[in-house]
Amino acid sequence: AKAPVNVTVTGAAGQIGYALLFRVASGQLLGPDTPVKLRLLEIPQAVKAAEGTAMELDDCAFPLLAGIDIFDDPKQAFAGANVALLVGARPRTKGMERGDLLEANGGIFKPQGEAINAGAADDIRVLVVGNPANTNALIAQANAPDVPAERFTAMTRLDHNRALSQLAHKLGVSVTEIKKMTIWGNHSATQYPDLYHAEVNGTVAADAVGDDAWLRDEFIPTVAKRGAAIIEARGASSAASAANAAIDHVFDWVNGTPEGDWTSAAVVSDGSYGVPEGLISSFPVVSRNGRYEIVQGLDLNEFSRQRIDASVAELAEERDAVRQLGLI
Ligand code: NDP
Repeated sequence: AKAPVNVTVTGAAGQIGYALLFRVASGQLLGPDTPVKLRLLEIPQAVKAAEGTAMELDDCAFPLLAGIDIFDDPKQAFAGANVALLVGARPRTKGMERGDLLEANGGIFKPQGEAINAGAADDIRVLVVGNPANTNALIAQANAPDVPAERFTAMTRLDHNRALSQLAHKLGVSVTEIKKMTIWGNHSATQYPDLYHAEVNGTVAADAVGDDAWLRDEFIPTVAKRGAAIIEARGASSAASAANAAIDHVFDWVNGTPEGDWTSAAVVSDGSYGVPEGLISSFPVVSRNGRYEIVQGLDLNEFSRQRIDASVAELAEERDAVRQLGLI
């Protein structure tokens, strides 16, 4: 039998954590042949709630769940971690300035990056879900100098999946008929869901839609503002769909993306598409041999270029702000 994989989950007692942990323990994160050991990290006041979730995980008697440990200390939680899902973050509260938000999250993601650097397994893969996800990932990555930068990623897969569904509904097709969707840039309102490279049964999606006004004035804002629409409808933020996207992101990272298709993930830029090197920005990516690689050689029309530049400019501002705060 395979040795268990250590999966560290932060914010384990939160909403997304609750939707995520059962799927990890059932084998959906890494596949049906891979046992997992869960290492849950919470702030001290939420450890008891995490213990309650652990009791429920026990009660599922998952065959692949080889153990659960709960910590309030990042050094311990990340010791030996093979996969780290960084979900816990400081949410923006009313009246909070962006600088305050970045500073509060720096207090979380800097020590977590240091702990990953100190004690994670050599094959560690990190997915940041907690917002502002791209910049939180950058903070963690910058504080883990001994870990290859490519092991730090942030989640835009939920945006990607939202874009697939919106387009499928518009065209009356199944999501399986759509390939090569891309989310570019920051996981924020400036993100750019791109229909000029997506294909619907082999036709460029923008042409299949044939309505640029819909693309610009409905599709893009609907995808970018979906989180707020969920809160409005549900009275709580999206959790199961965010957890589902985290599962998709890591599953594809480990198991590969299908031939002839790609997905979206925020990865460290190597300068591709004019995105400054080092920023953690969303790109079209394929996963091969356990690595996410940026899809190269796509032509960008003027509209796409402007949208990508605007989102990347926001990422550069966030990077400059955390640099000034001494977090990276
Ligand atoms: P959630 O589990 O709902 O959300 C967690 C994080 O995911 C938030 O930063 C949230 O950002 C982000 N997120 C990313 N994508 C989405 C999405 N599509 N929909 C909703 N959220 C998304 O938050 P809870 O408050 O329920 O739980 C957070 C937990 O984290 C708490 O238990 C807290 O104790 C813990 N925590 C743990 C830390 C640690 O382990 N060191 C540090 C800080 C907190 P946004 O707020 O922008 O929606």
